[in-house]
Amino acid sequence: MNRYRTLFFDLDHTLWDFEANSYATLDYIYRSFELDKSGIVDFEAFYQVYKAHNERLWDRYRKGFIKREELKWKRMWLALLDFKIANEKLAREMAAVFIELLPRQQQLFPHTIEVLDYCKAKSYDLSLITNGFEDTQWKKLETTGLSAYFSHVITSEKSNSVKPEPGIFEYALNLTNSNADQALMIGDNLDVDIAGAMGAGIDQVYFNPGKQDHEHKPTFEIACLRELLEIL
Ligand SMILES: [Mg+2]
Repeated sequence: MNRYRTLFFDLDHTLWDFEANSYATLDYIYRSFELDKSGIVDFEAFYQVYKAHNERLWDRYRKGFIKREELKWKRMWLALLDFKIANEKLAREMAAVFIELLPRQQQLFPHTIEVLDYCKAKSYDLSLITNGFEDTQWKKLETTGLSAYFSHVITSEKSNSVKPEPGIFEYALNLTNSNADQALMIGDNLDVDIAGAMGAGIDQVYFNPGKQDHEHKPTFEIACLRELLEIL
């Protein structure tokens, strides 16, 4: 028996397959807005450009340089600009559809439900710590049926802090009545989930499905969620 009682999961890219779900949503947007007729002939090229802008803007959002509203439409705006389309109205319309449809997508990483069932059966207390937006994250959880597994969904909006800051982890420990040494954070992002939990004295599981090289020293590292069964 290990000493962990409380498990903190990240949601995006850890349980909820953000990549597959945003790909499907953007593919729908590309087709419904007929972007091929606006000169973007290749969806794949559009997706790669969008992805790069989205990652950069998320980084700026986490650092407090931009607000949520700006993040939402500017990633579309910048992606369109790369194809010489300077159309703010179109960018804002695409952003609205994206925000509406993305959380309705249902693709999870392999073994998500199996692992959560196992953790519940073993009486672990499960919560989520996510930097995602409160309303968006709840829609994802309801659509996928994941909401039933978690006692708390700790977001940056609720905790007034953002991973990797210690504040959001301290908030989570208080809320779940846990000590840091009884808690385990499971997440896909080294700088956000792993370094953040480490800074708060919480052990970590780095979910690294792409088996990327890195220099961090997480407590555990897995490439498949099913490997959690050996740890827990
Ligand atoms: Mg993540």
